[in-house]
Amino acid sequence: MLDDELKELAPWQQEIRSRFPIITRHPELTYLDSAATSQKPQAVLDAVQTYLTTANANAGRGTYPWANRTTALVERTRRRVKEFLGDRDPDSGRSAVHFVGGTTEGLRTVARDWLTTHLTDGDEILVPYADHQANLVPWLEARRQLAERGVHVEVRGLPYQAESGDYDHRALPGTIGPRTRFVAATHIHHVYGGDMNVHRLRAAVGPNVPICLDAAQSVGHLPVSVTELDVDFVVFSGHKALALPGTGAVWARNAPARGPEFRPGGWQGTPNTVGVASLEAALDWLDAAGTDRIARWTTALAARLTDGLRHLAPYEILGCRASLAADSAVQRRHGIVSFRHHGIPADDLGFILFSHGFMVRADSLCQAGADETAASVRVSAHVYNTVEEIDRLLSVLVSLC
Ligand code: PMP
Repeated sequence: MLDDELKELAPWQQEIRSRFPIITRHPELTYLDSAATSQKPQAVLDAVQTYLTTANANAGRGTYPWANRTTALVERTRRRVKEFLGDRDPDSGRSAVHFVGGTTEGLRTVARDWLTTHLTDGDEILVPYADHQANLVPWLEARRQLAERGVHVEVRGLPYQAESGDYDHRALPGTIGPRTRFVAATHIHHVYGGDMNVHRLRAAVGPNVPICLDAAQSVGHLPVSVTELDVDFVVFSGHKALALPGTGAVWARNAPARGPEFRPGGWQGTPNTVGVASLEAALDWLDAAGTDRIARWTTALAARLTDGLRHLAPYEILGCRASLAADSAVQRRHGIVSFRHHGIPADDLGFILFSHGFMVRADSLCQAGADETAASVRVSAHVYNTVEEIDRLLSVLVSLC
């Protein structure tokens, strides 16, 4: 079924791939590290060039045309982010977008400027210990800061289920209590590639507990709707969504409020205006390409790789175990497949793959959980990757059996 998907989308994908200069200029190389950062289409490069040659100025400060244009760009892109995230009410003032340098900074900002201001002694928060450390460290820091002020907050782990590779919604009721005030979760896992099914969290925690979503691996890869997910914060990195490094945003639902309004504190200084220009172009590009099609493509590529690998004895594929059973039709890794070779250390495997032109990630992948830190190889695809690239990668991996 997923192979049919690849056939159907192939002509579209071929045209889309041609719009990434770094990809077409390096036919000898295969970039499969898009979970770390994405490549940029020509439209984003053009937007950067146009901004810097027609309007470069500071935002929110000057009154001359370039400054006004820059201020308008920043405000327009704030609205664009809301729209892109399926916020049905972008002009109502019920939500806010705050630009940040990326997901790490965004989650830190939520922790520092929002979480620490309204928890009281004895409150509990739920955090994902087995996810990216960017989605754990800020909450632990917040606990420490609160403790210094005499406010003691209990941090509990979101239960994780190895079989299905997502949060264990059956174990959730045992972790949630009347003092649960906040849940931090991840949309798509950065190692396992699985959808963490956060919609089940809302059902489990009820209507009043704020949920903060790390969408670093979903924005730009698949449709993300704040309306459907019913979360209170969405944090993402622009650079993983085809925009420049140093870009990202926090979307915050301010009303109906499940906590105080999100008002990041302090003097903000000069925003990354050229980054914002790249983000606007990237979101336009993604909408035109269709995030649903991008998701179908990358999911099908990941399924092809998983299918090819799961029968090979030396390899252990991480994440959703149910998907690896011989008769499983479950192949829902969102473009990310991580694995270990029992006889070859991950970093060696990374070097071997690069000797064949494949650029993949090979280390402990910034995973927070204590027993999750053994190194692995992560292959992560985006819309510019082809079936042929996955098949060539597979033939190299087969040759190492
Ligand atoms: N969360 C997840 C799930 C990620 O994959 C990453 C990046 N690997 C981050 C957070 C951190 O993103 P950034 O480095 O852009 O701040």
